[in-house]
Amino acid sequence: MKKPVCIIGGGVAGMQVALVLSSLGMPSLLVEKSPVLGGRVPKLSRTFPFFNDDGFNDGKEFSDAMERDLRANPLIDVRCGAVVSALRGDFPNFTIELADGNSLAVGAVVVATGFTPFDPTSLAEYGYGVYPNVITATEMEWMLNPRGPTGGKLVRPSDSKQAERLAIVFCVGSRNRRIGAPFCSRICCSYSTKQASTVMERNPRALVACFYMDVRTYDRGFEEMYSLAQERGVRYIRGRVSMCRQLPDGSISVRAENTLLNRPFSGEFDLVSLSTGMRPCADVNELARTLEITCGPDGFFLCREWFRHPHDATRDGIFLAGCATGMKPIRNCMIDGAAVAARVTALLQEAQV
Ligand SMILES: Cc1cc2nc3c(=O)[nH]c(=O)nc-3n(C[C@H](O)[C@H](O)[C@H](O)COP(=O)(O)OP(=O)(O)OC[C@H]3O[C@@H](n4cnc5c(N)ncnc54)[C@H](O)[C@@H]3O)c2cc1C
Ligand code: SF4
Repeated sequence: MKKPVCIIGGGVAGMQVALVLSSLGMPSLLVEKSPVLGGRVPKLSRTFPFFNDDGFNDGKEFSDAMERDLRANPLIDVRCGAVVSALRGDFPNFTIELADGNSLAVGAVVVATGFTPFDPTSLAEYGYGVYPNVITATEMEWMLNPRGPTGGKLVRPSDSKQAERLAIVFCVGSRNRRIGAPFCSRICCSYSTKQASTVMERNPRALVACFYMDVRTYDRGFEEMYSLAQERGVRYIRGRVSMCRQLPDGSISVRAENTLLNRPFSGEFDLVSLSTGMRPCADVNELARTLEITCGPDGFFLCREWFRHPHDATRDGIFLAGCATGMKPIRNCMIDGAAVAARVTALLQEAQV
């Protein structure tokens, strides 16, 4: 009997590890903290880039299809609402303990615990948490989702009136040394452009202004998505927003410095969406202690060898997949998942020989 591989985190990265392991004949135990699988993807209104024609446009549909395959697979043991509380032994003879008291022998451990969006409450200049019509990109994503609270309509939370004027503020909680976050969160330019483009597609009369430092739509198809957004009428204004203030009618006055024209900008919007950067999963430090692995200066889990073994954690037998090592789009999480499954299988087979 082969020992299973324990996968911590049942988002798309963790599910992909389990599915590819099973195709290689390897059993796995998928431990997911929340009661459901899928992580952040099922709540995405649609997924960038747009050009793919494989019917993959709806986050929930994609994640549900993976879950169906997983649940039907006899090599995958899924435990939702479970957490790993201790790890004993060494590769390839680990024992994991779950918080419910169960303990199991496993050959290796994969960490696929994803990310948490930055909470912008502490950045007083934006008024998040004070003004109801200042929301985060994650809230915006759910609002644009036809399955979400407004059936996909863009409204002002203060009075549920349709929002016609939208400001999107890039780089909130990233590229900001003052708060100890000098890094770029890599995907917020793309998800914000997706959201802006979606708003214009659904309502060509809308006014959508994106305030950016520079637009980083770096991957295949992303630049085309940026061009499409501009063709649809999304305006990109280069500059940092210095202040958002609520006006008596609930709309938000936005002040910024237009650094291309070198002059101040001020305008009124119905809704302001903050493109928040990303932080590691909530219990990253506790998990690092339990598994005896290390995190990088950005707080995400660190790999042992940046180039040669980008999916090996800093301890033998522990591997990393998806956004546990930093922010990336779904496609890269799927690539990670497949690569980790192949590496774990090869190392376990080697260890058995
Ligand atoms: C607003 C927004 C829009 C986006 N739009 C797109 C898009 O259009 N296209 C695209 O490609 N990407 C998009 N993304 C990125 C996408 O959400 C990520 O690529 C994807 O969610 C990463 O998957 P993951 O499995 O690594 O992590 P997650 O989705 O975060 O899943 C991690 C899982 O691990 C679980 N977990 C955490 N800690 C523990 C623990 N200690 N024990 C057990 N389980 C644990 C969590 O509950 C969760 O289920 C968007 C992101 C945001 C924020
Ligand atoms: S991806 Fe774009 S919005 Fe996000 S931190 Fe980097 S530059 Fe800023």
